[in-house]
Amino acid sequence: MTEPPIDFRSDTLSTPTDAMRAAMAAAEVGDDVYREDPTANRLQQVAADRLGKQASLFFPSGTMANQVAIRLLARPGEEVLVERSGHSHDWELGGAAALSGVQVRAIAGEAGVIEPEHLTPWLGRRPYYQSHVALLILENTHNMAGGRVYPQSTCCEVVEMARAAGLRAYLDGARLFNAAVAVSAPAAELAAPFSVMVSLSKGLSAPVGSILAGDAAFIAEARRARKLFGGGMRQVGVLAAAGLVALEHGGERLAEDRANAARLAAGLLAPGRVRLPYGPVQTNIIVADVRDTGMTAQEFKVAARQRGVLCSTTMGGGVRFLTYRDIEPGDIDIALQRLEPLIA
Ligand SMILES: *Cc1c(COP(=O)(O)O)cnc(C)c1O
Repeated sequence: MTEPPIDFRSDTLSTPTDAMRAAMAAAEVGDDVYREDPTANRLQQVAADRLGKQASLFFPSGTMANQVAIRLLARPGEEVLVERSGHSHDWELGGAAALSGVQVRAIAGEAGVIEPEHLTPWLGRRPYYQSHVALLILENTHNMAGGRVYPQSTCCEVVEMARAAGLRAYLDGARLFNAAVAVSAPAAELAAPFSVMVSLSKGLSAPVGSILAGDAAFIAEARRARKLFGGGMRQVGVLAAAGLVALEHGGERLAEDRANAARLAAGLLAPGRVRLPYGPVQTNIIVADVRDTGMTAQEFKVAARQRGVLCSTTMGGGVRFLTYRDIEPGDIDIALQRLEPLIA
């Protein structure tokens, strides 16, 4: 294949825009450990406002932000409830155990969504000789469940149940802006029930960074924990400048990613051998069941690569495609042509 491959492995492959590079070059900076980086401070203010929170903090990665949140919201030996294919369960290297000494309890949801009946069994009072359940983590959109948007009424209901039982709640909202576009709601509304992490480096195209947002006391503690985890950065305004552009302009065009993903999914489904186990595409992620093509997910990935289309596999045996800014509408047509021999 001499043509360049079309790369659907992840929206983290999105590259910074020209506007971001210009803003980075021009960024006013200072030492952010001393809280003297004006651009980082501005990003944190703008992000807090966008998410409807008192304060926010810039992190080098979503993983670090999630791990800092877990550190602050649960104590060693306590349990943290996470949906079983959740990012903080499967893709953070056991960080909750390694860094915070907590026990992660992976609970079954439905297409990534923990509904009240999934939660009830874990909320009962426990005797003193069992671990205490401290925290519930939800994920919106749900990465490994095909980019599902958490239905907001269910979200509010389970958070309320958890709180009533004495738990804290936290949202892994790496793709919260994709969810907001899909349901035409402000991100602040979707984030209202909890502290939240959002990624700037995925669909929003910034080169690096995530935001943790919540009330002022939580973010003050998070600043200490970020330093503890080695995430105290210096002239980080160079990166924050790209984050500001991402927040200002990146959200609007997520609708295009959604349209591209919908069209790719329609093309994959048309011959009748690819299925979507988590239901219709809602955002920029497709997780497909390809077993009826006669291939495993791994075999499909290799065959697709040979034909110039890159995708990834999930731990659940699915094939995953993501759309992002660098994937254009024309790329969808080319990808479908290339994949036709595999799916027809
Ligand atoms: C990507 C992702 C993260 C982690 O973000 P990184 O910046 O890659 O560390 C956390 N949660 C979800 C749902 C993600 O998709």
